[in-house]
Amino acid sequence: MLGAIIGDIVGSRFEFNNHRRKDFDLFAEGCFATDDSIMTLAVAKAIIEARKIHPSDGRHGEAEFLDTLRNLTVKYMQEIGRRYPNCGFGGMFYNWVFSDAPQPYHSFGNGAAMRVSPAGFAAHSKQNALDIARAVTEVTHDHAEGIKGAQATAVAIYLARRGALKEEIRDHITNEYYPLDFTIDQIRGAYRFNETCQETVPQAIECFLEATSFEDAIRTAVSLGGDSDTIAAITGAIAEAYYGVPDEIGNKALSYLDGGLRAIYDEWSALYAEGRERFKVLTKYIERITESDSYGKWIFDQKNDGTSEHPTQWPHVSYDRLVRAFATELYQFHESHPEYSLDRYSEILKKNGLEWGARPMREANAESLGEPCILALMMGAVRAERFCDGALLGFFEDGSILKWLKRLKDLDIRPN
Ligand SMILES: [Mg+2]
Repeated sequence: MLGAIIGDIVGSRFEFNNHRRKDFDLFAEGCFATDDSIMTLAVAKAIIEARKIHPSDGRHGEAEFLDTLRNLTVKYMQEIGRRYPNCGFGGMFYNWVFSDAPQPYHSFGNGAAMRVSPAGFAAHSKQNALDIARAVTEVTHDHAEGIKGAQATAVAIYLARRGALKEEIRDHITNEYYPLDFTIDQIRGAYRFNETCQETVPQAIECFLEATSFEDAIRTAVSLGGDSDTIAAITGAIAEAYYGVPDEIGNKALSYLDGGLRAIYDEWSALYAEGRERFKVLTKYIERITESDSYGKWIFDQKNDGTSEHPTQWPHVSYDRLVRAFATELYQFHESHPEYSLDRYSEILKKNGLEWGARPMREANAESLGEPCILALMMGAVRAERFCDGALLGFFEDGSILKWLKRLKDLDIRPN
């Protein structure tokens, strides 16, 4: 949820003054928490209160929970919404907030997706994410495209939270929701302000899929133009689930919330301790690596006979998608975290009494090493492949990568 709030606040000053580039100050004069943040917090409040009435055991009582949730979503969106009449509501929604008999109004506006992120964070299964998304959406946006926009957003968050790879999230969205047959660079020039789910949600998801870090996701979303606070809110929520939120950005955004809104956020984050892991983008591989029994295959050239006309190709490893994704994300982590100086991995290893070589690296006692050295070990393993075919496969197969990632996960625990 914090990712949505960040995206909303950062995007707020660009909604009617688009900035189609990635270079800008995240927080500056003119930034404020708009309806996207406020309605997201109202949805979060409804989920918190509905769960107090119907605690989840993951199996029973979900229908009753969803009924209560629907009623409480109306209650809190109205109650909280009425305190902020000028936060940016559209006309129809404004009337709904102040109505004595609020009814759904068949909307497919992107408001459905901008406020739905708590559904993805609170869900205990994919189906549960879809059910919660529908319940909090259909009280206003009961058009099929409104429900779809909310569910696509919630499911992307749920999958990202549970450690899905980007390619898997892309496949799921493409198969079930929207064809993502464009890149942000391709559409940026012609993209215009549009308040429908159909012209906001797929674009926001693509911004996340193309990003290399949480911050880059927010910048990419703003650079697209259009309804900037809402696009960045949707992108930001998914990016939070996938990358976690850097402390500095998270704390700055929270400083824009008044006491009442902040209290909802605090209650929520105590229940759904979300998005505060620094190394999640890497440690999410722990489960996948543990489950996988193959990381790649050696390819031996059997077509050529070694003559000068048909020189044999050197044996090399064709890596599985999991390993390729890991290596790409380690490089992206390096680029977005220059403070670790991972290009100097071999120096870092030396400082810790280690050599850059298969044996000393494998035998290093991970339990005694700190973050910089663990990250340097992983970078050293990925870089070794450039110089020695199959080197990285060795580090996967002998359990080194898994051991280092587990150590990194232990080091990630910190006070909130
Ligand atoms: Mg807004």
